[in-house]
Amino acid sequence: MFNKLIPCMRYSKLLFERHLHQIPLSKDRYGIIRKPFAKTMDSDIQLFKSILPDKNQILLDPQDTVGYNRDYFRYVRGLGTVVLKPRTTKEVSHILRHCNNRRLAISIFGGNTGVCGGSIPVFDEIILSMELMNKIEVIDEYSGILVCQSGCVLEKLEEKLLSKRMIMPLDLGSKGSCQIGGNLATNAGGIRLVRYGNLHGTVLGLEAVLANGTTIDLMSNFQKDNTGYHLKHMFIGSEGTLGVITRVAIACPTETTTQNVLFLGLRSYEAVLQTFLESKKRLGEILTSCELIDRVSLEVTVNHLKTASPIKDFPFYMLLETTGIQKEHDDEKVQSFLDYVIERGIVSDGVHACEPSKIDHLWKLREMIPAAVYSNRFCLTYDLSLPLKEFYDIVTVMRRRVGHLTKIVCGFGHIGDSNIHLTIAGDELTGEIQLLIDPFVYEFTRKLKGSVSAEHGIGLLKPKYLNYSKSTEAITLMKQIKMMMDPNGILNPYKVLQI
Ligand code: ZN
Repeated sequence: MFNKLIPCMRYSKLLFERHLHQIPLSKDRYGIIRKPFAKTMDSDIQLFKSILPDKNQILLDPQDTVGYNRDYFRYVRGLGTVVLKPRTTKEVSHILRHCNNRRLAISIFGGNTGVCGGSIPVFDEIILSMELMNKIEVIDEYSGILVCQSGCVLEKLEEKLLSKRMIMPLDLGSKGSCQIGGNLATNAGGIRLVRYGNLHGTVLGLEAVLANGTTIDLMSNFQKDNTGYHLKHMFIGSEGTLGVITRVAIACPTETTTQNVLFLGLRSYEAVLQTFLESKKRLGEILTSCELIDRVSLEVTVNHLKTASPIKDFPFYMLLETTGIQKEHDDEKVQSFLDYVIERGIVSDGVHACEPSKIDHLWKLREMIPAAVYSNRFCLTYDLSLPLKEFYDIVTVMRRRVGHLTKIVCGFGHIGDSNIHLTIAGDELTGEIQLLIDPFVYEFTRKLKGSVSAEHGIGLLKPKYLNYSKSTEAITLMKQIKMMMDPNGILNPYKVLQI
């Protein structure tokens, strides 16, 4: 039943670069009109040079700034001409104070792994790149707390933590590029959320600079701190519209030393749900990830990777990971879970890996799905939270609506968190296809009281859909908060809210 895995394959390179020149400007693509912000003048550049001591902290050459004006997924392209790279909170504060006085708009740039265009300028906003704010300040193994600047790359943090036998509570496919500040700003979810919860729980404190340059210290080194309003939550998920996150204190779990990955084949969605339920009951605290992959997602990915599926054809696959600290204990639990689901016919086939290279290969089958589908000429992705009972219905319905007009309609994602990534891809995105998809997907989600953005954020692409998941009253309050904290609207304009 449980096959031996084939060795790791060589993975084909992503093919995005060749399309870069074709990205239309965001302002044209999305019909956005420039707000009456000031334009950068020579005197502003001189002032930025006086704030930022090193030459490499300011980029003005179009060849150097071009990469800060387009996103990885080629949805958006801006016209920013100035990139500033502060190293300290004080420098961020000086920059913001000046920009606020001058009414100069700012776009905040992290690792450029966002998928909603939240970190790319639309017009000539000044680009504030956080990449040099990459200092790790404290790793305290006793309290389990990491304190660092917000430009630290997630994977680098993970490496440093491992030297003290700790890990980050979040893990993403983009960990080699994404920055912790961007993770907070977008409230990124990822593949460990089922185990460690989201950033609203694991972030103990943060420091942010407000639009007028005021630094607000919300750092805390304690799990418990009930002193007044929990303002840190306002910045988590605010996508740079309320302030610039400059430092972070985050609770980190201790290192796990044992790992099991199961790649399972299932004959029905009902079996998927049962498997998830049993995994929670029988794997308990060692369950770290619970992912769903449908047949089409796997087919596209194995073709893209020029590999083969580790098991034969099924309508659904699940990738489950457990991590722990005692091998026998974990193995026993995993075996008892497998015995249970196989004996009852819930799981029909699968592979079980505990060696790093085999585990890596199985995870690639999940993590490379986005790259595989993005190699099509058009690709629309929807990041939805939906009730588990109806979780996969959106894929079935969309397949019926547009399957005959497109190449790919697939669903995959974090079933452990009720978060599905619906993806529709093909050769040409016609008006007919668009009308069949949008706003149907959002209306479907609203009917089920789901979320139109489970983990990617709103960014530039989704402000008009915010009302599908938030009431008018809630949006009004958000706008009032934005007006109070950034009255000139200089922070990440055109994003999140339509104001
Ligand atoms: Zn995801």
